[in-house]
Amino acid sequence: MTTPLLLPFALGDASMVDLLGGKGANLAEMTRLGLPVPPGFTITTEACRRFLDTEELPPELPDLVSAAVIQLETQSGRTFGSTTNPLLVSVRSGGRFSMPGMMETVLNVGLTDATLPGLAARGGWRFAWDCYRRLVQMYGHTVLGVEAGRFDELISDARTRLGAVDDAHLPATALEDLVRQFRRVLAEDTGQDLPQEPRVQLDAAIGAVFRSWNGDRAKTYRAHEGIPDHLGTAVNVVEMVFGNTGHRSGSGVCFTRNPSTGSAAAYGDYLPDAQGEDVVNGSRETMPLDELGTREPELHRQLLAHLTTLERHYRDLCDVEFTVEDGRLWLLQTRVGKRSPAAAFRIAADLADEGLITVDEALWRVDGHQLESLLHPRFADLDGQRPLATGLPASPGAAVGVVAFDAAAAVAARARGQAPVLVRMETSPDDLAGMIASEAVVTARGGLTSHAAVVARGLGRTCVTSVGGLVIESAAFRATTADGQVIVAGEVVSVDGTTGRVYRGALDVRPSPVARALEDGADPEASPLVLAVTGLLRHADARRTLRVRANAETEGDARLARRLGAEGIGLCRTEHMLLGARRELVERVVLDDRRDDALAEIEAVALDEFTRILRAMDGLPVVVRLLDPPLHEFLPDLVGLAIDAAHREDRHEHDETQDAKLAAVRRWHETNPMLGLRGVRLLTVVPELVVAHVRALARAQAALRAEGLDPRPEVMVPLVATESELELAARHIEAGWREGDPTTTIPVGTMIELPRAALIADSLARTAEFFSFGTNDLTQTTWGVSRDDAEGSFLAAYRREGILTTDPFTTLDERGVGQLVRTAVQLGRSSRPTLGLGACGEHAGDPASIHFFAGLGLDYVSCSPPRVPVARLEAGRAALHHDDKAGADTR
Ligand code: PEP
Ligand code: MG
Repeated sequence: MTTPLLLPFALGDASMVDLLGGKGANLAEMTRLGLPVPPGFTITTEACRRFLDTEELPPELPDLVSAAVIQLETQSGRTFGSTTNPLLVSVRSGGRFSMPGMMETVLNVGLTDATLPGLAARGGWRFAWDCYRRLVQMYGHTVLGVEAGRFDELISDARTRLGAVDDAHLPATALEDLVRQFRRVLAEDTGQDLPQEPRVQLDAAIGAVFRSWNGDRAKTYRAHEGIPDHLGTAVNVVEMVFGNTGHRSGSGVCFTRNPSTGSAAAYGDYLPDAQGEDVVNGSRETMPLDELGTREPELHRQLLAHLTTLERHYRDLCDVEFTVEDGRLWLLQTRVGKRSPAAAFRIAADLADEGLITVDEALWRVDGHQLESLLHPRFADLDGQRPLATGLPASPGAAVGVVAFDAAAAVAARARGQAPVLVRMETSPDDLAGMIASEAVVTARGGLTSHAAVVARGLGRTCVTSVGGLVIESAAFRATTADGQVIVAGEVVSVDGTTGRVYRGALDVRPSPVARALEDGADPEASPLVLAVTGLLRHADARRTLRVRANAETEGDARLARRLGAEGIGLCRTEHMLLGARRELVERVVLDDRRDDALAEIEAVALDEFTRILRAMDGLPVVVRLLDPPLHEFLPDLVGLAIDAAHREDRHEHDETQDAKLAAVRRWHETNPMLGLRGVRLLTVVPELVVAHVRALARAQAALRAEGLDPRPEVMVPLVATESELELAARHIEAGWREGDPTTTIPVGTMIELPRAALIADSLARTAEFFSFGTNDLTQTTWGVSRDDAEGSFLAAYRREGILTTDPFTTLDERGVGQLVRTAVQLGRSSRPTLGLGACGEHAGDPASIHFFAGLGLDYVSCSPPRVPVARLEAGRAALHHDDKAGADTR
């Protein structure tokens, strides 16, 4: 069967998202559910893909459209092109994934000089002219490519001339005049007029919507969201219903639950006598849904009933766009709604409690990125702080940054290394790059469903909208608040997206209540959000087989990690114990011929630190990695020493100690220290370091056992490339251990950080009892890209160019580095079936990488302490059955 190019709503359903796009599939589903959806049809993504290939509408399409329009005429009782009762349609984009505002829409298609009187008969002349000017404006911009600002200027002139506060106050004559002026703009800029044949308008609008798939905005959005470019958009052609025919009409946007907090009550904005775009663009003050309940109780009741139907049907938060024409309610769109991270947790937990979804599905509906954002700090001590301005809390969080009044300024500030706060009257899709670059977004207009709010929530940015009375003069680089305070570009402000307040200056921040609850244990009286997070984390723990350990080398970090649920330490970097003032001990061991004193001090430090850590992790494994100092971080700076020597020479001074030090540092100097005398290589050259550390560890264990505790240390060798390196290190370890505690033995493992190690993993596993994948170094050495320099040099440029979509140092490169990990797991287990397996690079805290590690059957991941809850959650999600994931994947 060939793939259809067009499908009426009555023939589709929600499962057909690939073909009908999200909007079309959901309109079809609502039609099937018997909800009041205006009649319409969807031109499929298949038609779009063919259009994008050939730059022409598929030749079969016109006949299909003709038949569908005839059907629409029957269903609506109106006729396309009729002078008395004209059918008008909207032509809207709608791809597989929601891309809010990123593509084009043309409304009121079918309106011409001839059909205008017929429309006026439906809602009056002012209404008819208003529809006409919207059509000319949208057609001019979307189909003919006229710059949008050309129309905005004319509207703004008309408003000023007539003293109208907004478009709704422009009289019919002004709108008629605007239509004339707009058509003149069309003629001047394109040499064309609005076609006076409805069908010509329709075909051109369909083509323009298809083309908008490849517009700059849409491409930027897709690149950011990881939406594939080849999918194409569907086009929905729907009978127009009008919210702007008078006071018994209006438009609204609502959610079945609060998308910001997740609380279980319908939530939304309504604007009387308006079309949908007026609600979303924030150009007029909306009223809350409850107020609609007071004005139109019956309508409100119907709407709430439909919202319940939708939520029960989709088993998730839905957002809905609706229009009321002369007291009759129409649903124009629904989809599973975007939500803040806090709302995601609350809604998932509540829906599971309500029995609408299983707990597994609830777990699948939240993710580690959302949890991570909830662990972000909040502002401390807001008492007595007077806000500079207050608006609606549109996306929670606390952000401090410098004010930028347009997207370009925000992008530039970010490029300079600053954290911008984008402050706008309202945002439009053109602001996307600036929003991505910003820590927070503040707008003067728009409600919780405005473009700014929806996009900021999706991006996880803090956002405050509807800051009443804020006047922004971007050309003068300043804004003025309702009470006359001036904010200038570049000034630091603090934005509280949880309360909707903006403060002057940089406020102190404190940990989030969720982070605090996870550290201290939640009390049963905790907030619904805390209970939702802790409940889902408990479920993740029950589900997962992948253990979660932490990377920690201080007692404090070890205790924090344990409170956050770590099940041991997977990486204790001993060299981190020797940073700061103790750095000089390594220097003395490496450079001095008489190194015994320094070694003794290192051993004493190690004994103390190991004892504390093992005590903090009593009963849990602690993997101590032997010293892996990139030498340049521990030796004195060669250039500094050389300059000092040159100065001494100029002054004819002598300092034998310093001269000897310079000579020694020169001897040890490396051009590429990260590929030099690190890890096991240094331990081979200076084996006393192994003995000192291992002896200290054995003594720490013995001391704690004597106290009746249950310390469980293990030792791991870094940067191994050959079997004999590891065997030699193991012999030194054994010797050191025997000196410290002859009555026990210690498990010995190796890190897998070099491609060679992965490729000879079967031989390494003959000595190593466990492997831990050091994916930081493994990525560096597999890619041949320095982990320290990459971001500044070219990886960022590669991402901009689309050569890379993710940073391989953040998310494991499954095809390359992952292949080495897979190989090492197979080879290692083939020679030692009981081989322990863990991962301890940065990737061990990255959600996507955790799923990869879980899929390979690793025993544990080990990440920084604050990411332990994220790893627990993702490990739990990774363990879910396919059905649970599929069942929850309705968005
Ligand atoms: C690694 O290389 O992934 C690792 C954990 O070791 P380090 O970051 O200390 O080099
Ligand atoms: Mg390493």
